[in-house]
Amino acid sequence: MVRKMNISFEHIPGQSKTKRLLKNLLKTGRTPHALLITGRPGIGKKDIAISFAAGLMCFELAKGSEPCGKCTSCKRLISEKNTDLVFIVPDGGTIKIDQLRGLIPELKFKPDFSKSRVIILEDAEKMSEQAANALLKTLEEPPPGNVFILLSSDKNRLLPTIVSRCCHIKLEPLTAKELENIALERKQLEAEKARLCSMLANGSLNGLDEWAGEENIALWNRFSNWTVELKNMPMWKFFNDTKNMIDDFDSMAKFTYAVKVWLMLLIRKQIGGMDKGDITETELNTLLNLFECVEESEQNLQFNVNKMLTAEEIGLSIKESLYGKDSWS
Ligand SMILES: [Zn+2]
Repeated sequence: MVRKMNISFEHIPGQSKTKRLLKNLLKTGRTPHALLITGRPGIGKKDIAISFAAGLMCFELAKGSEPCGKCTSCKRLISEKNTDLVFIVPDGGTIKIDQLRGLIPELKFKPDFSKSRVIILEDAEKMSEQAANALLKTLEEPPPGNVFILLSSDKNRLLPTIVSRCCHIKLEPLTAKELENIALERKQLEAEKARLCSMLANGSLNGLDEWAGEENIALWNRFSNWTVELKNMPMWKFFNDTKNMIDDFDSMAKFTYAVKVWLMLLIRKQIGGMDKGDITETELNTLLNLFECVEESEQNLQFNVNKMLTAEEIGLSIKESLYGKDSWS
């Protein structure tokens, strides 16, 4: 089966500033020999790297700044048969020195099918110390015709000496509006679902994929019901119900983010299921305070506080501040 790789900048959603910058570099030919692209997981680092690589490798850039899609290099890239684009990915959790040792001598030879050879290191922060040291010298002055692109979601875990040898580009999270458009146009979700998923996605395409799935929509409905049922929930039921619901979330970060989206929706009065009359102007402050509490809990979670306790605290705050302390009886 001939696989197909998409090399155009156009298919990459959002990131207009970065795309403009990279296209400009291609146009002027002032391209760095080492690039570091950072940004949270699932934001499109690899797609951007591939399009830029294709541009560097292309013999006849279209409009001076886009891979043409027609030359030998582009055609081979599209059918995933271009050996001048090299991917280095962690092997069993780390990028090992052996993965680089084999490659470095090869760099002295001309590329086979393209104008340049591009080496993309995925999860570059997972390089072992020896691998990083082996790469340092090459990164400083790669043999002509070679460009390195390092991808990382955590720049702070890279050796500063590696970072300082790269031109650094930071990808911003996608806005909810950008994600909503993707959900509508590419995923063809219905409007209400598209809006909800784009908010829950927390700025990433992976997040959008995740929340657009049936399972997660069911999870959201379950969570949403819990927030409504809290109103009349007796104490004996509260702890059990909360635990069962939390168990269905893969992570506390996902839960706290869902709570924040729910609060945002409440603040915008876009949610059904609660008595609309309950949310008065004076209660706006209550919602904002709750939002702050959740953000505080999120920060505390980084310091290994008890997860279940945090979830219960959030649940208690929601119940008592929205439905009143006497809602227990
Ligand atoms: Zn081309």
